[in-house]
Amino acid sequence: MNKYLTFRWILLGIGLAAIVGLTGMNVYSLYSLHRSTVNQSLENQKHQLSDISNQVRSRFRQPVQDIWKLNMEEIQLSIENNGPVPEPFLEMLSIASKDSIFSAIYFSEPDCMVCNGEGQLQRFDPESNSLEWVNDYPDFVIDGLGMAKTRMLGLVNDYRWKTRVIFDTHRSMSIALIKPRDHAIIGYLNFVINEDYFISRYLGPLLSQSFGDNQSGTTAWLINWTRGEVLFSTDITHEYSRREADIRQPFSDLLHDWDLRASVNHNPVLATSRASLYRNLGVMGTTVLFLIGAMVFMFVTAQRERHLAVRQAGFLANVTHELKTPLAVMQAAGENLADGRVKDKERLISYGEHIFDESIRLRQMIDKLLDVAKADAGRLALKTRPLALNKMVRSYLDSHGAYLEQRGFTLQFKADPDNPFIFADEDCLNTIINNLVENAVKYSPSDKFIGLSIKTDQNLVYLKIEDHGLGIQRKDQKRIFDKFYRVEDALTAKTKGHGLGLSIVRNLTHLNGGHITLKSTYRKGSVFTLQFPVYTNHETPNNNDKRAIGAAEYINK
Ligand code: ADP
Repeated sequence: MNKYLTFRWILLGIGLAAIVGLTGMNVYSLYSLHRSTVNQSLENQKHQLSDISNQVRSRFRQPVQDIWKLNMEEIQLSIENNGPVPEPFLEMLSIASKDSIFSAIYFSEPDCMVCNGEGQLQRFDPESNSLEWVNDYPDFVIDGLGMAKTRMLGLVNDYRWKTRVIFDTHRSMSIALIKPRDHAIIGYLNFVINEDYFISRYLGPLLSQSFGDNQSGTTAWLINWTRGEVLFSTDITHEYSRREADIRQPFSDLLHDWDLRASVNHNPVLATSRASLYRNLGVMGTTVLFLIGAMVFMFVTAQRERHLAVRQAGFLANVTHELKTPLAVMQAAGENLADGRVKDKERLISYGEHIFDESIRLRQMIDKLLDVAKADAGRLALKTRPLALNKMVRSYLDSHGAYLEQRGFTLQFKADPDNPFIFADEDCLNTIINNLVENAVKYSPSDKFIGLSIKTDQNLVYLKIEDHGLGIQRKDQKRIFDKFYRVEDALTAKTKGHGLGLSIVRNLTHLNGGHITLKSTYRKGSVFTLQFPVYTNHETPNNNDKRAIGAAEYINK
């Protein structure tokens, strides 16, 4: 038996492990599939943003793209001699100044220390097409020039081309003019960026063109990340949040305080993939739960059946023994009487009493067994009728009270002043009460108390049978109503029984439309509560009564 049990446990373990393993693998592959869809979608959007960033870069370079063609020596000479600015240089500045992306152009000589408050800057005046000395210029122009100078110091030694372009972190673009032959810096140009134009007329439309379409599900933002400020959004209804931004694209070489960010959260492809992921996980979860539930159910049922089989086998042995005992007593007494050897009147009476008592015991046992069999098969012929519960319990105590008191029990009965009626079979109810009282007697070795009480609450009547006996541990409370179940306890083991009484009680209670519950404290006592619907039509019970018909139908099943 034990070998089979171990085998069953092993099988259950393997089955559960297999389910968990397979589920884990499936969850992993579902997630991977979703992740790859997300990554693919992110990759597309990343490319788009990177393209836009490159376009922005070219856009800034465009007005000065021919700067390398300028003759730097000529420019240097004109600066050194304070002579006229070469025409091609002025022409390039004029073209750049007409471009709305810049709002002003400044020129600084290499050794001009404007950042220290010394020297002056020249500003290109498009009207006179010349560089004019000026004293007022925005601070960020000085910052931009200062930064360009610092960075050029580092770069000039490995310089390859005629010009180097440095975009500063602020709102201007600085260019160093370099004479390649002797690595000399001739001066710096600073182009002030027209932010309004850049954002609303250039970058904004560019972003909207790629992401403005609601179908794309992507929102792109232009952010000043140092200040956490949103400068442009392709969807003003979608509020920017740092956690939501899946992609971050800086502008290489320029606009260091700004970057492009995008959230692909509402992308329809991702939404579909996410929905299908959740649906698949849901279906899989439910299936797995069902599978595990079914396996555990089968396992528990098999265990229960095994226990029932063991208990039944024990019961059969027990019952055979119990049936044989009264038979043996009756056989011996009958034999003595039949021999005619017993003449003494008292002994004759005693033998007669033995036979009578034992035959009653035998009958009771057979009745009990039949009750179980009938109740099991649902063939108990119930004779339901309205019963006055107070009266029933009182008459039960009248006939059994003396015997119980003789066995040392204190009896208490609290009748219900409402005198409730129930619609039930009297014999059944007697059997129920009898079994419960018998148990109270059997399992109360010291504090011998039996309390019966009746109470009506709304449409229900409660009959309580209470004892101060051994009580029942919580783990056993659910099972004591099972057929053949007996508590395996040193104290209860001393009492004879077959584990049938409570099973009969529960069956009969249910057959009579009632319900039984138990409250018990180990070593303190137990209270069994029977609950029946109150029968209100007891004055004129008739066959048309719906409850009566309902009960009758139930019985006939
Ligand atoms: P039996 O009494 O023949 O064993 P029952 O079905 O009547 O069978 O009871 C099942 C088990 O429930 C008993 O073996 C006993 O352990 C426990 N039990 C029943 N009634 C009581 C009670 N009033 N107090 C303590 N234990 C009880």
